[in-house]
Parts: sequence; C-alpha cells; structure tokens
Amino acid sequence: MLRQLPLAYFVGIAAGVYHAQFPVFIIGEDMATHEFVVAVDEAQRLIGPESPGEPTALRRAYVQRPTRERLHQPVFRARVLQAYRTQCSICQLRHADLLDAAHILPDGHPRGHPVVPNGLAMCKIHHAAYDRNILGVRPDLRVHVRADILNEIDGPMLRHGLHAMDGRTLSVPSARASRPDPESLDERYELFRQAG
Ligand SMILES: [Zn+2]
Repeated sequence: MLRQLPLAYFVGIAAGVYHAQFPVFIIGEDMATHEFVVAVDEAQRLIGPESPGEPTALRRAYVQRPTRERLHQPVFRARVLQAYRTQCSICQLRHADLLDAAHILPDGHPRGHPVVPNGLAMCKIHHAAYDRNILGVRPDLRVHVRADILNEIDGPMLRHGLHAMDGRTLSVPSARASRPDPESLDERYELFRQAG
C-alpha cells in the first residue's frame, strides 16, 4: 500500500478456481477491523478512499460502477459458468465464448444480486431472449417461448434456436445451493407473462 505496487487479486470461484483481477492497488487500511480498501481500476485509485468535501452518494456511484463492471460481473460470470459446468441451461451449448451469466432478477432490482442462485448460464441468444422476455422460465424450470414468437415463420435460428426450446426443462446444477431461487424465478416469470 505504501509503495503503491500493482497486485493481483484472486477471487475464489470454487474449490481451487480463482478469478484473477489485475492490476489492483491497496489504497486504504482500516486498522480496527483489519480490512483493506482495494481499487480495481485507475479511477478508483486516484479518487482514494477518502476525498473530503465530495457528496458521498455521487462518490459512491462513481466508485461502484467500475467495481461492478471490472470485478463483480466477471466473478459472477465465472461462478455461474462453473456451477453450470460451462453449459447453456436452455440448449446445452458448451462453448464458453458464447456463454453468459444471465441475472434472474436484474441488476438494479433490490434482490438482483450477482450470486449463483440469481444466475443462469445461458448462450448469447438465449440470454438476450430471456432479458427481452422472448422466452421465460417458470419456477418449475419449464421454458416457455412467447406466443407471438411461436407463431412467426422464419429460418433455422427461429425454428431450432427458439421454437424448439418451448417446453424444455432447464438444466440446473445438482448442488442445491447453486440452483436458481424459485421465488426469484417466479417474480421474473410474472414479468414475462405480462410482456406476452
Ligand atoms: Zn442456449
């Protein structure tokens, strides 16, 4: 911290698996609680842990955004993909480059936390379709495609990628603690129903 040396921060994903965030810098220390303040990007480093005279809410918003983008999102993605064995929960695609961690309750929702029970591993197309309420997931893990989409006629991506997913059951982790939270699924499914 005193020498402001760049460090690598290894955030635990699963047993023996880490997300490496670098460079990070230690910018403050709370002697009483034995905690350190870590800056995950250059802007946070310059702002420092204490900037007197700045409105707190504004400063917090300024610091939270890079933390969410640089640290929380990659860690969330890594944890969800690990839990789902790098596989789309809807179509079973196993190509990490084409997979995302979708939020069940969105980022910004009071319970939209970046934790595995609020996440679903999805390929890019199913993630976008889920976010835009083109398909929904019931709390019993059944996938539903919106009626107007089912009535459309188009090429193979619509037929195989969307229509064929209607009625499938989501593949979820066997570990109970990693499975999607049924209450969150229920609340999210309600939004899908309203959209349809
Ligand atoms: Zn998929």
